[in-house]
Amino acid sequence: MRYSQYFIPTVKETPADAEVVSHQLMLRAGMVRKLAAGIYSYLPLGLRSIRKVENIVREEMDKAGAIEILMPMVTPAELWEESGRWAQYGKELLRIKDRKDNQFCLGPTHEEVVTDIVRREIRSYRQMPLNLYQIQTKFRDEIRPRFGLMRGREFIMKDAYSFDVDEKGADASYEKMYQAYRRIFERCGLKFRAVEADTGSIGGNWSHEFMVLADSGEDAIVSCNNCNYAANVEKAESRVIKSAEHCEPRPLEKVHTPGKKSIQEVSDFLQIPAAATVKMLVVMADNKPVATLLRGDHDLNEIKLKKVIGCDELEMATDEVIAKATAAPVGFLGPIGQRLRIIADTTVKGMRNFIVGANETDYHLKNVNHERDFSITEYADIRNVTHGDSCPRCSGGMLEMWRGIEVGHVFKLGMKYSKALNATFLDPDGKEKIVFMGCYGIGIGRTVASCIEQNHDENGIIFPIPIAPFQCIISALNPKDDSVRLASEEIYAKLLALGLEVLYDDRDERPGVKFKDADLIGIPLRIVVGAKNLLEGRVELKHRRSGAMELLSIEEAVSSVNTIVKEALGI
Ligand code: ATP
Ligand code: MG
Repeated sequence: MRYSQYFIPTVKETPADAEVVSHQLMLRAGMVRKLAAGIYSYLPLGLRSIRKVENIVREEMDKAGAIEILMPMVTPAELWEESGRWAQYGKELLRIKDRKDNQFCLGPTHEEVVTDIVRREIRSYRQMPLNLYQIQTKFRDEIRPRFGLMRGREFIMKDAYSFDVDEKGADASYEKMYQAYRRIFERCGLKFRAVEADTGSIGGNWSHEFMVLADSGEDAIVSCNNCNYAANVEKAESRVIKSAEHCEPRPLEKVHTPGKKSIQEVSDFLQIPAAATVKMLVVMADNKPVATLLRGDHDLNEIKLKKVIGCDELEMATDEVIAKATAAPVGFLGPIGQRLRIIADTTVKGMRNFIVGANETDYHLKNVNHERDFSITEYADIRNVTHGDSCPRCSGGMLEMWRGIEVGHVFKLGMKYSKALNATFLDPDGKEKIVFMGCYGIGIGRTVASCIEQNHDENGIIFPIPIAPFQCIISALNPKDDSVRLASEEIYAKLLALGLEVLYDDRDERPGVKFKDADLIGIPLRIVVGAKNLLEGRVELKHRRSGAMELLSIEEAVSSVNTIVKEALGI
């Protein structure tokens, strides 16, 4: 592609409304433009990278035996009513009406639609296993679209759905997808981890998220420094260490803590670690107040708590509700004398002589102990694990925390949708049975964005070769100079003949401008053609990532680029 005839609207300044680096760089490199909140146009460079990821995904899905289809984006409400999600999905589902007043929605995911296809077409166990996938535009009316393609409202997803005759088959299909996902993200050049994830209302231990490691990630994940345990913090567990059970109980003491409400304020004031305090948090579970007890430095995990209580809705109680339910001032809440249902985190069980609120303004209680001062009947794991916790799977391992971006998700669905939509088949004995399903998603645009989060420097993007919009850029330093133009054209023709993807910067621009743009858009290899070096029959080959530069003959430069690219692509 000749730069002068192409469309790469680069921008010098960092756009003010872009918070994360991938969003900033995708705008600056002219890859995408925003049309409305969370809705983007893909410009040529952006589209090329998107297509590369799509192709890697497509190749690996095909290799794993999945079959590509394409389902509609506009889907009828009736299907969603059958599965119960028309009512459940909430505002993320963009609902529309046609001219005849029929209700539709824009597909945020396609379990209903694909299950409808399968229930109509699959009759016999012989037709399975079956895995159908598509690469398609989704719409979710996200409450906070942000970070560019990372969390859009309209975005491209690969979604696959497997259909099996029994659980064993479903497990095998899941494993195939899990392995395909590993290959996909490896081929994209990403540093990632597959972590155990929460399975929501479906339950079971069969969900993994593929997380790209990045500080800007919205998810917190943990991994063990000793074994291969890794999980989303939403789900992660740790081994409970019984710490102070043998400690002698000291006499209960009421202490004056004027205006000290938060754990931080109380522990600073009393000069004790936050880990020696116990906090009481009140939640509303299906509109009923429930109190929780956690060690002061621990965070409540609402997903775990929701499971323990078995409720549908859970939210933190408002100050008003707390005041009514506990008759205690906010900030000085404690378990002693409370009639509320109290669920304590298992860590609290091993604590002795701790601090709690006295249920009285400006007072806390010191040297509090279970049984002697109050009794708890319900203990459960309801907290987020923290850095340094003991691994739940191995002995001696320690949990480390990371930030991650979820780029893919594999999920064993079981019979949730097939049951609701009555997708059945006849087994070898002629008995009617319900199909076992799995679903598997990859965010295509999010994958490109996370790749940029991991691969950039102060000058711009550093694309890994497999998903770079072009593999090589030729910067002709003064294309008006005949020798430069001829040599550049020759290199361009030779690289194209080798089947490489080349951007030829033939613009009448200063070298500085060309170098800046080349760095910004992140093309991995650059051949610089200048009159001075040409006098000695040389051009420069520069590696974007390392900054390394070599002076080579035209032949050598061409063959070097060819080798590097093909090696990176594994061909
Ligand atoms: P998140 O927790 O980030 O909202 P999700 O659990 O809703 O993700 P899935 O329903 O599992 O996501 O969708 C499959 C994949 O689609 C995700 O792994 C992610 O890569 C991508 N994805 C989901 N929501 C968005 C979005 N708003 N913008 C871009 N990609 C998205
Ligand atoms: Mg979501």
